[in-house]
Amino acid sequence: MPIRRLSVQLANQIAAGEVVERPSSVVKELLENAVDAKATKIVCDLKNSGKTLIRVRDNGQGIPHEELPLALAPHATSKIATLEDLEAILTLGFRGEALASIAAVSKLTLTSRTKDEDHAFSVEVEGPQQDPEINPAAHPVGTSVEVCELFFNTPARRRFLRSDRTEFMHIREIFVRTALANPDIDFELNLDGKNVVNVKAVMGDEKKRLVRLSKLAGSDFNRNGIFVRGEDPCLNVSGVLLPPPDVEESAVENIFLFLNGRPIADKVLTHALKQAYSEVAGRSCPVRCVLYLNCDPHEVDINVHPRKDEVRFHEARLVHDVLLETVANSLRKELRSVDDGLKKESGV
Ligand code: ADP
Ligand code: MG
Repeated sequence: MPIRRLSVQLANQIAAGEVVERPSSVVKELLENAVDAKATKIVCDLKNSGKTLIRVRDNGQGIPHEELPLALAPHATSKIATLEDLEAILTLGFRGEALASIAAVSKLTLTSRTKDEDHAFSVEVEGPQQDPEINPAAHPVGTSVEVCELFFNTPARRRFLRSDRTEFMHIREIFVRTALANPDIDFELNLDGKNVVNVKAVMGDEKKRLVRLSKLAGSDFNRNGIFVRGEDPCLNVSGVLLPPPDVEESAVENIFLFLNGRPIADKVLTHALKQAYSEVAGRSCPVRCVLYLNCDPHEVDINVHPRKDEVRFHEARLVHDVLLETVANSLRKELRSVDDGLKKESGV
């Protein structure tokens, strides 16, 4: 076959595969957009674990009606404008391809209203398509994105989908991580009309934060959680750790890591955590933590993968060691005070 340029439509469908792997990838992108829009409440409704319907509603700043078609166009974003912006990203999105990719493989309705508009507007697309019509609609200030029949036009992807149970597990995981990352937002997740997750925003109050955190990450955190705080010029660390489990206790690893407000899965940081736990426990043991890390956004590159959960630090070694020391110190301090308590109790 001779070389030929792909049509824009086909190119979009191929690119969509990188961003939209399964229903949970749609949920992730829609939640991120709602967070970026400064919503204080985000509700996600699912039918058939997202295979039939994913709807994310927010009360954020909305999209002006004349920009609605652009929101669905590839490489269109309101979040960065120049290469300099890309050097220090403060929003979760920036590639401007999520909505276009999702729209390319589903039947999507985008409804939105800004505070300056006296009613909402909506656009509807089925698969890759340009210039949708803008119609008046009813909706409070904020945005709803409704994604129906995901992969209706890409049978190969549809066949790859797993059972409802598995797909829902992936969605729940993403949802919980996003809710943990944003303690100042209300989150609600409903599956086939039944509420599954419901947490309210908390400000300041440490006790309330811990209760909210343990509703999402597991009740152990409320019972045995150790607060950790470390301030280093290269990395700020705060959050809650669970102590190394007793030898006979069967605990599973449970790591929730956030960098500058973004859930991440990073090998360097995970290695630091495992090393801290095994140094303190004197054996390898599962890490269980919810940790919020903050660093200068110039010091980290998040533009490594379209899913944006991998990061690259400029000073990876330094960051590794700061995290290792901070976590190891908090665990040691806690174990010492437990030890002292036991000694006092037994009168030694
Ligand atoms: P990105 O988030 O990378 O900019 P998206 O394709 O996810 O790209 O979204 C495109 C644009 O649509 C965003 O830059 C934003 O301006 C707008 N947008 C999408 N979702 C929302 C939302 N929930 N509220 C307000 N604006 C939104
Ligand atoms: Mg986005």
